[in-house]
Amino acid sequence: MCGIVGAIAQRQVSEILLEGLRRLEYRGYDSAGLAVLNSEGVIQRTRALGKVSELEKAIGENALTGTIGIAHTRWATHGVPSEENAHPHMSSDEVVLVHNGIIENFQELKEELIADGYVFNSQTDSEVVVHLIHRELKANDFATSVKNAVARLHGAYAL
Ligand code: GLU
Repeated sequence: MCGIVGAIAQRQVSEILLEGLRRLEYRGYDSAGLAVLNSEGVIQRTRALGKVSELEKAIGENALTGTIGIAHTRWATHGVPSEENAHPHMSSDEVVLVHNGIIENFQELKEELIADGYVFNSQTDSEVVVHLIHRELKANDFATSVKNAVARLHGAYAL
């Protein structure tokens, strides 16, 4: 079962996110990742197969800078455990998402998004959600975009 952590603070959040992931390790997982938004509005993401300690190694000396971030431990349901399938997933470097659960109708949504020009970088069901939100953002504010995207999803999940 996967875990989701989110943080917004006045100080750097990457250590807060890692500590959150460490506390969720007891739940079992196959990979982990985090994304932090820096002060220039750039999303920085690091993911790793295996333990949170592998993610820490992947981050290395250059901790991701920023005061807003999300993080995830994954228990694969769609797609093998791998760095490419680890969360967070991104759409056009503009929207970033972590997902827990299953999107039952992901195949039909994926076909629709591919026809619309979206390129998929993972085998997960989760990636449809981030592209759906990205597509909605072309015409709507963020809250409406998420609401409209979620209205298309079948399944039990958390984002
Ligand atoms: N279904 C998603 C995946 O396979 C999320 C799994 C989870 O809840 O960790 O990546």
